[in-house]
Amino acid sequence: MATATKLSPFDEVNLVYDRAAERLGLPDGVREMLRRSWRELQVQVPVRMDDGRIEVYTGYRIQHNGARGPYKGGVRYHLQADLEEIRALASLMTWKTALMDLPYGGAKGGVQVDPNQLSMAELNRLTRRYTLNIEHLLAPNRDIPAPDMGTNAQTMAWMMDAYGQLHGHSPAIVTGKPVELGGSLGREAATGRGVAYLLSATAKDLNLDPKDSRIVVQGFGNVGSWTCRLVSDQGFKVIAASGVRGGVYNANGLDVQALRDYQTISRTVVGFPGGEAITNAELLELECDVLIPAAIDNVITGANAPKVKAKIILEAANHPITPEADDILEDRGIPVLPDILVNAGGVIVSYFEWTQNLQEFRWEEERVNQELHKIIMRAYDEVRERASSQRITYREAAFEIGVQRVAHAVELRGFV
Ligand code: NAD
Repeated sequence: MATATKLSPFDEVNLVYDRAAERLGLPDGVREMLRRSWRELQVQVPVRMDDGRIEVYTGYRIQHNGARGPYKGGVRYHLQADLEEIRALASLMTWKTALMDLPYGGAKGGVQVDPNQLSMAELNRLTRRYTLNIEHLLAPNRDIPAPDMGTNAQTMAWMMDAYGQLHGHSPAIVTGKPVELGGSLGREAATGRGVAYLLSATAKDLNLDPKDSRIVVQGFGNVGSWTCRLVSDQGFKVIAASGVRGGVYNANGLDVQALRDYQTISRTVVGFPGGEAITNAELLELECDVLIPAAIDNVITGANAPKVKAKIILEAANHPITPEADDILEDRGIPVLPDILVNAGGVIVSYFEWTQNLQEFRWEEERVNQELHKIIMRAYDEVRERASSQRITYREAAFEIGVQRVAHAVELRGFV
């Protein structure tokens, strides 16, 4: 019996893209042009380790589509950050920036490395070498990186500095920088804030009273921890949260601030005294109202999707649900708000940061948050409207809107 070929992450994203292209009736040539990445660069990243050895890592920068503006997308440091994963994430950026109607294309970069195994000095050297090796693809009006898993504001500061050594001071070359170096107020919390805005809107639609709610969040890094903090500030009850080594559960609600303090000291949520220990697998199957995967890809699969008990899922991570699981959840009537909508807060505020850098003018945080709210809620309304009028899922609706905008930009440019 023939065994089914396992799809790569890029093929999985393209399953959804192909459906959107088909429904929109895109001509074959345009369909092909939008499916593949426009430019892909693989580089070696040799690093002198603290003990004198040289380690050689592999890095990527993939520019998926630039029809709507400069390429935009994060840099991931993770052992699974290989070519296919970075391709998938780059394509998601294209559809995300288009769905938010930001003047950007989509890109992603990464280095296949476990950043937790490197010292700060080693990470600094790795980031500089990676930046120098992809530098010819970057410019404030060409390609603008940002943080993603395993990278943060410090990584962006090193990237900006390495780029600046060649080109002069260029704060608009990266976003997600420290505020002291031209970063935007509100950028660090932005992805979680976007999730919190959407949770509020969703709760109203579900008639869910925040104080009776049970929210479960996988991942307690930038996105997961900010999401937990902001939704609990809004009165929602976070009953479980986890990191790579496991999680904690408290049916009465976790004290999120205490959990953040605990993680700052212990570098893990495991062992937090305000809850019971729980595995990541158990967390995904908890009885709850809203499940928010905010860690890594492909955590909800054909195997556990039948056991998910949430009323709705908000994809704060990129690509946390496999296509097989997506079909199972749809059959079970569990709606999914897709990644390209839910986690767009980061790229929206990155756009504000870039704008501020180009204008050399800083916005107040209140303005950042208000404009973020406006853009993400407009996209939410567009997605809901299209999903209900076309009787399609939120994911299908979100992709259709994004793909349509990129196809239109290609047509307007007239370069083919
Ligand atoms: P991060 O590195 O700050 O945090 C990642 C979290 O996931 C950590 O708590 C880590 O312990 C946990 N984790 C890692 N591997 C895991 C595993 N195998 N099982 C369970 N948990 C695991 O990363 P982040 O920036 O918070 O990004 C999380 C997700 O959100 C990613 O999918 C990323 O692409 C997406 N995202 C991030 C941003 C942003 O602004 N940072 C924007 C859009 C999307």
